[in-house]
Amino acid sequence: MPEESLSIIPLGGVEEIGINMTVMEYGSDMIIVDAGLMFPEEDMHGIDFVIPDFTYVLENREKVRGIILSHGHEDHTGALPFLLKELKVPVYGTPLTLGLVKEKLREHRLDDIELVSVKPREIIKLGVFEVEFIRVTHSIVDGVGFGIRTPEGLVVHTGDFKLDPTPVDGQLMDFHKFSEYGEKGTILLMSDSTNAERGGFTFSEKEVRRSFEDIFSDAKGRIIIATFASNIHRIQQVIDVAAMFGRKVILSGRSIVSNTQIALDLGYLKIPENTWLRLEDIKNLKDNEVVIITTGSQGEPMSVLSRIATAEHKSIQIKDGDVVILSAKVIPGNERSIGRIINHLFRRGANVIYEKVSDIHVSGHASKEELKLMLNLVKPKYFAPVHGEYRHKFYHARLAEKTGIPVSNIFNLDNGEILEISGGVAARAGKVTSGRIYVDGKGVGDVEDMVLRDRRRLAHDGIVIIIMGIEKLTGNIVSGPDIVSRGFVFEDASQDIINDVKELVYTSMKNLDSEIIADKALIEAKIRSILKKYLRNTMDRKPMIMPIIFEM
Ligand SMILES: [Zn+2]
Ligand SMILES: [Zn+2]
Repeated sequence: MPEESLSIIPLGGVEEIGINMTVMEYGSDMIIVDAGLMFPEEDMHGIDFVIPDFTYVLENREKVRGIILSHGHEDHTGALPFLLKELKVPVYGTPLTLGLVKEKLREHRLDDIELVSVKPREIIKLGVFEVEFIRVTHSIVDGVGFGIRTPEGLVVHTGDFKLDPTPVDGQLMDFHKFSEYGEKGTILLMSDSTNAERGGFTFSEKEVRRSFEDIFSDAKGRIIIATFASNIHRIQQVIDVAAMFGRKVILSGRSIVSNTQIALDLGYLKIPENTWLRLEDIKNLKDNEVVIITTGSQGEPMSVLSRIATAEHKSIQIKDGDVVILSAKVIPGNERSIGRIINHLFRRGANVIYEKVSDIHVSGHASKEELKLMLNLVKPKYFAPVHGEYRHKFYHARLAEKTGIPVSNIFNLDNGEILEISGGVAARAGKVTSGRIYVDGKGVGDVEDMVLRDRRRLAHDGIVIIIMGIEKLTGNIVSGPDIVSRGFVFEDASQDIINDVKELVYTSMKNLDSEIIADKALIEAKIRSILKKYLRNTMDRKPMIMPIIFEM
């Protein structure tokens, strides 16, 4: 790589929706745009989440001038604690983004990181780079894109965006800046490809409010709404509509309570007095005075919504007249778990409202017409679609072509691929180390390649396999449970422990709700968590636990 050239390297986020992270490098300076995570797909057992391999950044640690953040979504910030553990550099972002990040860093005991709050249109200098923050509209408050001045020209990175003409917080997208960049000349545009397959325009977040109003005016009982904990706009709209209909709002779930508190403290959320109550207060309210906001919209087995749906929740039981709203998109791969939750809720008497049957969700990402508008405003010489799987980027590239960018100036990059700009000419220039790191837990040393992690765990704590056959309808155990273990203390310990574990499985199965029994995946999750806790408490061991259940 010659010294005098600009390198742009996506380390994640261009082969998937998630783990967004881009490196920009010039001479002895490097900046990082976002550092996100991704939640595991259904077949990644025992994994909490995935982050990008940032070996390349660590190899060049003395060059790194700072990390700039587009917004507070975890697919842009979730890898930060892991990166910052290895590399102490300042982090720049808008106040809400940093508020959310601060909380995450605190959980990881990273209190010594310099967090620099930046306002839209503010310019910061990081080595040779001059970064201007530009307001964009998205499904989270306080999002920005970037205009990054480099010795090779201006690079525009949109961050996640849609063109919302009526944003909930009234903060409009800064079209003027983007068109100014177009006027002045932009060498490269990197733009959000998430919805590049979708025609037309994405609806404004305000459209959701109308659906909420309809649902609230019909509802006779309690209303339970599941959404993403970071969707402050959505939470605001629920609160507004609740206040309008004289309902009180109860937040349930750690992440949603903490995010709401942060947004409230920083002035991004407005809650009328006496509207946000605690869960304990629910008993003093009539059913038609209650709105519960919670998480679990993706059917996560341990979430509040899932526990409510399967009658596992301590204080919230579904009854006739309850309305449950899943106000979030279905993330591909989660269809089955979400479908499961919806069925459980219907069976218990709730009326469930979800994306397929009502407009209770709009996307935070631009559709085709908006993407073309962005391309037309910025008029870049080169274009690199980002934030998407290959197919999203493929469609985005086609749109760019339609707006007049020659095919040869469009780069559909892979993770780790270097786009080099030198003397005003861009070209692919090889690859750096890249890939996915699988994370289980959050402690130092937990970040390892999945295979290594498995080997380490097997070597230290072994594996415990529970095999049993159950009667499909009743959940009665008809064979087993047989306990097979390798590398675990069972071999040298007395038979007692094995018997204890068997007994525990027996009693747990007896106490399971019939709806969990109807669902093999839920039983397996349950058994796994019960045994995990038991073995940790009694023996301080963390073996890999694999329940295998046959239905007969
Ligand atoms: Zn986002
Ligand atoms: Zn994103």
